[in-house]
Amino acid sequence: MKQSQLLIPTLREAPADAEAVSHKWMLRAGLIRQLASGVYTYLPLGFRILKKVQEIVREEMDRIGAQELLLPAMQPAELWQKSGRYDVYGPELIRLKDRHDREFALGPTHEEVITTLVAGEVSSYRQLPMTLYQIQTKYRDERRPRFGLLRGREFLMKDAYSFDRSWEELDVTYRAMYEAYSRIFTRVGLNFRAVQADAGAIGGEGETHEFMALADIGEDTIVVSENGDYAANLEKAEMFWEEPTPSGAQIPPMSQIHTPNIHSIDQLCAFFDQEASVFFKTLLYLVDDQPVAVVVRGDREVNETKVLNALGGERIELAEAGFVQKCTGAEVGFAGPANLSGVRLLVDREVQAMESGIAGANQTDYHVEHIQPGRDFTADLVGDFRNAAEGDLSPDGSGKLKFYRGIEVGHVFKLGTKYSEKLGAEYLDEGGRRQAAIMGCYGIGISRILSAVAEQHCDENGMIWPAELAPAAVHIIPASIKDEAQRKLAMELYEKFRAAGIEVLLDDRDERAGVKFKDADLIGIPHRIVVGREAAEGRVEFKRRAEDDKQSMSAEEAFAQVTDAD
Ligand code: ATP
Ligand code: MG
Repeated sequence: MKQSQLLIPTLREAPADAEAVSHKWMLRAGLIRQLASGVYTYLPLGFRILKKVQEIVREEMDRIGAQELLLPAMQPAELWQKSGRYDVYGPELIRLKDRHDREFALGPTHEEVITTLVAGEVSSYRQLPMTLYQIQTKYRDERRPRFGLLRGREFLMKDAYSFDRSWEELDVTYRAMYEAYSRIFTRVGLNFRAVQADAGAIGGEGETHEFMALADIGEDTIVVSENGDYAANLEKAEMFWEEPTPSGAQIPPMSQIHTPNIHSIDQLCAFFDQEASVFFKTLLYLVDDQPVAVVVRGDREVNETKVLNALGGERIELAEAGFVQKCTGAEVGFAGPANLSGVRLLVDREVQAMESGIAGANQTDYHVEHIQPGRDFTADLVGDFRNAAEGDLSPDGSGKLKFYRGIEVGHVFKLGTKYSEKLGAEYLDEGGRRQAAIMGCYGIGISRILSAVAEQHCDENGMIWPAELAPAAVHIIPASIKDEAQRKLAMELYEKFRAAGIEVLLDDRDERAGVKFKDADLIGIPHRIVVGREAAEGRVEFKRRAEDDKQSMSAEEAFAQVTDAD
């Protein structure tokens, strides 16, 4: 590749709206350009990197026997109506009509299409197990597209779907996929963790893991034990729990305290001169439109996923102020578990185990103290309803929990028969009985990987691509292309790399050396060979992008440095 002939529009500065480091460098290095919010063009170098990610993913999918196909992006609405997701998916689903007024959706995911395909083409147990995958553009009208390729509205995904005959068979498929994902994320150079995730209402029964690239910009919180044995996302994370032995202390009767305009936990702490942990925080929710009050300690956060799972619900939302007033008879900020009727009461086990605390009185401007669980209120359900907190003990006893930020780059999920039953993906078993195939689904954010890698592999001058993704292995830069000796040596080296099958970018532009070096830093090819003043003696300067040292050496030695690394 000759730089004079390539479209690599590097920028001196990033546009002001690029917040994420990865977004800035990818724009400045001339890899991507935005066409509309969350919709990007991959320029030639960006596209090369994207193709390398795809190739790694293909190799690892093929290695575990998954078969590649390509499904349509345009999907008839009926399929989504059949699966029951047409309404549930909401505004994220991009909907359109054809000239005959028939409704379609642009695929945000392909469970409906693949299951319909398998329903039509597979009929016998002999054809299973089977895993199919594709690499395709997906469409999701995200509420907040941002950070460049991290959250796009049009993005590239690898999605795979497995069809097994039993849960045991699915276990094997799932494990193979999990391991293939671990290899993929290692090969693309990511510092990542596989974390347990919540299967929730999406698929019911199944186990599920998310693969998280560690990065401060990540939108997910992941919870990892000190020795790393336990890792989960925040929705799923549990903590070690041991029922404390009650001290048997006599608690005085509950009494009301006038707390005018004291709504928040911070205000309560100041008013009572107490730690947040002595308060009972009561939040009102609507779970599938039914009112539910959840009580956690004042220093804790309610975990909505755990609440939803405990109730077997599908939707949870915080109740609006008007509804809270109706339920509690008080303004927001004064809800409490005592004397609260017409609402299911879920009490976190930590609160239930407390001897007493301070809570809202369900009366505006009043709280109650000496409120005792069991004596002053009775829970409908006691359980773990809070988020894990840093410093909690890991549920498996492997030390304290620590929090990290992560970018979800992949997701593996045991789906079960949710789609196969609705869309008829059934087969006849050995005894001639009709059975629904047991499914799994497995996604990788191909384009998101670029941003996640960029987030982890850059410095103050630009990108430092890991070897397997770099747009080329070596960047040859003649300091002055007009100098005959430099030009000649640079060309010789260039041809030698090409002949050896090593990807090489030659900066043959008639630009100042300083400009070329700046661009080379931005682009981030791992090895750089500068052909300068010593060219006439057959000597060059060799540098690795990740290191500061430059070394003068013969052109042959520089060649060997790159080929040995390759
Ligand atoms: P998120 O929680 O980040 O929205 P998701 O749970 O909706 O992700 P899945 O439906 O599991 O994602 O999609 C599979 C993979 O596709 C994700 O693991 C992620 O890597 C990628 N992905 C999802 N949404 C986007 C997006 N808007 N832009 C880029 N990649 C995405
Ligand atoms: Mg999403």
